[in-house]
Amino acid sequence: MLSNKFHTFLRGNRRTRVPVLLYHMVSDEPAPGLEHYAVSPAAFRQQMGWLKARGYAAISLALLVDHRLNGRPLPPRPVVITLDDGYKDNLYGAYPVLEALGLEATIFLVAGLVGQEAFWVSTFGPPAKLLSWEDVRAMARGPITFGAHTITHPHLCQLSTRQAQEEIAGAKTILEDRLGREVSFFSYPFSDFSPVLRDYAAGAGYRAACSSLLGFSDGADDIYALRRLIVGGGDSLEAFGRKVRGRPTGRETLRPFLRSIKRALLPMRLESQSKREMAPRVSNKRRMDH
Ligand SMILES: [Zn+2]
Repeated sequence: MLSNKFHTFLRGNRRTRVPVLLYHMVSDEPAPGLEHYAVSPAAFRQQMGWLKARGYAAISLALLVDHRLNGRPLPPRPVVITLDDGYKDNLYGAYPVLEALGLEATIFLVAGLVGQEAFWVSTFGPPAKLLSWEDVRAMARGPITFGAHTITHPHLCQLSTRQAQEEIAGAKTILEDRLGREVSFFSYPFSDFSPVLRDYAAGAGYRAACSSLLGFSDGADDIYALRRLIVGGGDSLEAFGRKVRGRPTGRETLRPFLRSIKRALLPMRLESQSKREMAPRVSNKRRMDH
């Protein structure tokens, strides 16, 4: 009986619903068309303050994974903060707040473009700057863990097997060489995801990977396709609170979905590179861009 109770406890524990927040730019000046993609520094400060004031504990991805795999206990009200792409504005808009409040976060870097520009948003205006190695080293001294977001931010589903594996595994090698520490987490660019890509991420030696599949990470999600909640420029503080607590309004639930449909219907802004062997692709309607 005791063992049954223990297993029930453990299973329940591992199925804790954890909001894994996904940010991109933290900027007051996103190019027109990217407003949904950028949270202002003031809004970011408010959101982090909201978490802190309500007793949320920003945990690392390492702890979340350890909880899932080994049952390591989580603090009450766990939340994971992630930022994709490694925009330069994260240094000014997000880092000071995270450091001041002692909130852990993971930034996923495009390993081959550190210190350069984000070409994938260049159709919206001047390309956004990305963090430099110097910035990354400075932030690594604070509560920031760096993860990998490929080498060149490609559409992984459109690459050959060899190219996709190189983008995923090579990013780990580059970042580990530059940072002098293990890089354990990966995130898929452009919401590209398939079981094949999942296996490449596992094969490359990452401990887990973040997807752009929407929802709480509740233990039913694959450790190599952790679900996340996108926080965008359109979220009021109230909407942010409802999202984190898992009580979005119907409209808020649908908004990212409708946006992805709208984008799919618009002419492709980002031309894929020339003929390539196609990896099998699983389409998922609950995904977002970038
Ligand atoms: Zn990205």
